[in-house]
Amino acid sequence: MDHQRLAQLLFPQITKTPEDYESIYPPRDLPAGAKVTRIGPSPTGFVHLGNLYNAVIGERLAHQSGGVFILRIEDTDAKREVAGAVGMILSAMDFFGVHFDEGALLDGDCGAYGPYRQRQRAEIYQAVAKRLVEQGQAYPCFCTEDEVARLRERQQAEKLNFGYYGAYAACRTLTLEQIEEKLAAGMPWVLRFRSQGDAEHSVTVLDAIRGELVVQENYQDFVLLKSDGIPTYHFAHVVDDHYMRTTHVVRGEEWLATLPMHVQVFDALGWQRPIYCHTAQLMKQDGETRRKLSKRKDPELALDYYRQEGYLPQAIWEYLLTVLNSNYEQWRLENPGLPFSEFPFSTEKMSHSGALFDLVKLEDISKEVLCALPASEVYDGLLAWCREYDAEFANLLARDRAYAEHVLALGKTGERPRKDLVTWRQAVRFLSFYYDERFQQDDPYPQNIDPQMRREILQRYLQTLDFADDNEQWFGKVRVICEELGFALQPKKYKKNPELYRGSIVDVSNTIRIAVTGRSNSPDLWEISQTLGKERTLRRLLAAMD
Ligand code: GLU
Repeated sequence: MDHQRLAQLLFPQITKTPEDYESIYPPRDLPAGAKVTRIGPSPTGFVHLGNLYNAVIGERLAHQSGGVFILRIEDTDAKREVAGAVGMILSAMDFFGVHFDEGALLDGDCGAYGPYRQRQRAEIYQAVAKRLVEQGQAYPCFCTEDEVARLRERQQAEKLNFGYYGAYAACRTLTLEQIEEKLAAGMPWVLRFRSQGDAEHSVTVLDAIRGELVVQENYQDFVLLKSDGIPTYHFAHVVDDHYMRTTHVVRGEEWLATLPMHVQVFDALGWQRPIYCHTAQLMKQDGETRRKLSKRKDPELALDYYRQEGYLPQAIWEYLLTVLNSNYEQWRLENPGLPFSEFPFSTEKMSHSGALFDLVKLEDISKEVLCALPASEVYDGLLAWCREYDAEFANLLARDRAYAEHVLALGKTGERPRKDLVTWRQAVRFLSFYYDERFQQDDPYPQNIDPQMRREILQRYLQTLDFADDNEQWFGKVRVICEELGFALQPKKYKKNPELYRGSIVDVSNTIRIAVTGRSNSPDLWEISQTLGKERTLRRLLAAMD
């Protein structure tokens, strides 16, 4: 077989060689140890947590080593592409504070190793494919999908290994003349890798998270280029990561199964393999079992979810780092004031069994992050979120910044600052009672307080209410009301001898609390009343006496 001729026949339009691309994309001039990483999302319109998870790893590895972090759009599957999807990826990554040094932009690219959209790189893949054909390592296959499916059925019936390989690879042995004939007849073809691998052999691949992997050698003549000349992921990734000079390929563990194909192509081309970092599946505890996060069942798999709920990007980073590196939590405890970028992130500290994704833990971290933020920053963040998701509340916040900041500062000082806020959406609900327009009675009055007793309590409370009182004086008056009306000052006492009392001080203060805030659980009631102001508090108390 004249491989040169075949290559020319298949790729007449390709004039550049792999060597040309070596000089177009030269090795990068970076300090020793600098890592080049990338994410390769597909523009399907669904940006998922896994994209961010891998982005956080890639970003940290690159930027903490003085390297380069790239955004590559893997758009080889035109059928799955959704209009506007690149914009969604860019905006999601920007929202989470993930910054790329190179890669696709909304229009065009930024960087010297582009283009960064795979469909625009067709010529590069084809130049490399042409070389593989010249070396006898790739060949055209004219089998139809039906023929391949029938082969599979036959293999199944005969209990053989599935796939296009060895004696089952019908087009492997076509002569040049046969190929010429089929091409002349206009038959569509794909380009297949001519594997020299053996199912009985294994290969060793270095994985930075999992250590040395020993995997079965690939023996399949898998497809490199589809019939439209666009590569499969298996080929595109190798070519791109070589010419983009990627040092560390961070990707999901779903690619472990096809890893033997990838290293085989690297080896066939005489290219140095990157260091693979196969990340663990994101799992969720579902009752007794752990399962993979699912697009259908778990809204939290979509990155949009966090933005819509109003999670702080910083909280998400803190959380992901906690999941990713087993020593992050300890480091955070020891360095509460440092930005997370100071943490020495490492692939060795990553788990390779499933990574458990736990919303409750994320909420805890979120509370901590929000609690540590000054009220003015909380205000800015909340207002920005509301402008997008709750315009009416945004107007209420913007109407009186000083009032809103005062509200947000409540309970923030002292030994044990309150951690009431979790997300912006929850904050809007939490803060609603500070605004008459949103104020409503959320909780019922205590069971043992009938309307008449409620009026009695509130009546007395109104009579004694003095906004000049301090917390202690105020509470002293509440206690007097309790005693006068026959409520126990200590809940314990009431519990012990319920027949002696009407209830306890908790019932009395909750009655007042619900009248003023609509809730049975709130920050310090007297501080709230002071913040709401005399007029508004009185109005609410009077309204509750109806
Ligand atoms: N397009 C691939 C995916 O979405 C990227 C895998 C990789 O990063 O190499 O899974």
